[in-house]
Amino acid sequence: MEFGNFGGQFLPPHILKAVKEVEDAYNKYKDDPLFIEEFKYYLNHYAGRPSNLYFASHLTEDLGGAKIYLKREDLNHTGSHKINNVLGQALLAKRMGKKKLIAETGAGQHGVATATAAALLNMECEIHMGAIDVEKQALNVYKMQLLGAKVISVQDGLKTLKEAVDSALITWSNELEDTFYLIGSAVGPSPYPMMVRDFQKVIGIEIKEQMQLAEGKLPDYVIACVGGGSNAIGAFYDFIPDKSVKLIGVEASGKGLHTKEHAATMTLGKKGIIHGMMTKVLLEDNGDISPVYSISAGLDYPGVGPEHAYLDEIKRVTYVAATDEEAVEAFEYLTLMEGIIPAIESSHAVAHAIKLAKTLPKDQVIVVNLSGRGDKDVKHIARYRGLNIVD
Ligand SMILES: *Cc1c(COP(=O)(O)O)cnc(C)c1O
Repeated sequence: MEFGNFGGQFLPPHILKAVKEVEDAYNKYKDDPLFIEEFKYYLNHYAGRPSNLYFASHLTEDLGGAKIYLKREDLNHTGSHKINNVLGQALLAKRMGKKKLIAETGAGQHGVATATAAALLNMECEIHMGAIDVEKQALNVYKMQLLGAKVISVQDGLKTLKEAVDSALITWSNELEDTFYLIGSAVGPSPYPMMVRDFQKVIGIEIKEQMQLAEGKLPDYVIACVGGGSNAIGAFYDFIPDKSVKLIGVEASGKGLHTKEHAATMTLGKKGIIHGMMTKVLLEDNGDISPVYSISAGLDYPGVGPEHAYLDEIKRVTYVAATDEEAVEAFEYLTLMEGIIPAIESSHAVAHAIKLAKTLPKDQVIVVNLSGRGDKDVKHIARYRGLNIVD
């Protein structure tokens, strides 16, 4: 397997055939200078890269310890790091001669990002979404429709993400000729985890250059939140050979690791198979995949990218967790101190940075990957605090 004991392609034959085609195309184009140039063009001119590396001086001063810098993925077009990956995969799909992008979405963030790339590149787009999620996420459904996507409301089973994945895969296997399956994180069968990492590694490459200009050295810590793990692997990857840089992934411990309501896959998961890959998975005693919970829809996943399982095993990255309450406090604190409203996903990474910075001397430097902006979360945070905002 690609990542030590993790990764692979655990799939039924009809889907394996489709994945092999993606693998061939990815191997053909990943080092092609014209493909790389085209991807860079869209990252710079459409997504708005490079994103800023901002010195959070008020946060730093208030906490009284290490210097904190924020990598501002929240400033990207559509408000998060997700745009990097969808542009990469959509451009690859075009090179393969595909006319249609297909994806599943839970809370709708990946659906909106995919529909955006499809609108930009003039491709058809079909987003599969559980019927319950369609109801809960009416605004994102409407955005996808405005962007020209067809949203399929999946009525099977529990009518949420799992059924949406199954439905999208069935459609894909019936339309292989024209369709590309666009995965939203560094997960799934090979080559997706590696491909998504390669489309996201620009984050870490930029951090390294920008930190050189700002401080003339490498950072001491890079911290990122981990759902499937794409923003984290993007921020970490370029630093893996730099042994002095400590890398920390922060997952969601929801209502607490002692409860059943969390999504702490790295902390409490076991080796197992999910979505075509061998990785760490949250499992019940009978071997079923556990239901997961987090205040943050983006971190609410019972698996994790296989490269993270590997980096944990070789002890290159440390994985910790932050609770809902810690994330909400960090969300409020960063907003108040710096005038930056972070995504609730990113707030988990901020929460850990706050804890850590206080314990470190002033010459240490922490970079937090601010994976997205929090506009989408404001209403939900208000509700968490007992306010009901009606608009
Ligand atoms: C989707 C999302 C995440 C979680 O996905 P990863 O693949 O783990 O990065 C984190 N932050 C934001 C803002 C997101 O939209």
